[in-house]
Amino acid sequence: MNQPSSVREDPQSVPLVLTSDRVLYLAMEFGTAAHSCCCGCGTDVYTPLTPTDWSMTYDGETVSLNPSVGNWHQKCRSHYVIRKGKVIEAGPWSDEQVASERERDRAAKERHYGKPAAKAVERPTPEPAESVGIWSGIKRLLSRWI
Ligand SMILES: [Zn+2]
Repeated sequence: MNQPSSVREDPQSVPLVLTSDRVLYLAMEFGTAAHSCCCGCGTDVYTPLTPTDWSMTYDGETVSLNPSVGNWHQKCRSHYVIRKGKVIEAGPWSDEQVASERERDRAAKERHYGKPAAKAVERPTPEPAESVGIWSGIKRLLSRWI
């Protein structure tokens, strides 16, 4: 799957309000959603929307992402659930739990796609460090509408 250089920069990205200070961007073109890490560290978090990765639900008012988001390869190692527009802390995972989840993910992809996954999707995938922050992305989006 093509990884967008910045979902927020993509004019087709749809910003969906999570909470008063959080936005989840939906980029249908890239089949992914993106948000700024909910721990507040500023890392951009990508959650590919595929049958074996994440699914997103919008009920007309709130957004949910399933399953939980685990930022295991980030310094923060945050783990949370986004349910009905709320961020729910999900607690830390041990390295063994992370390895077990990666194996479950690999097996799920193999079952779904019918062949060994060439490379497990690292999730979430951060943008390069020099990329723009989420607020400049939001400002840019808003400036198009004003
Ligand atoms: Zn974080």
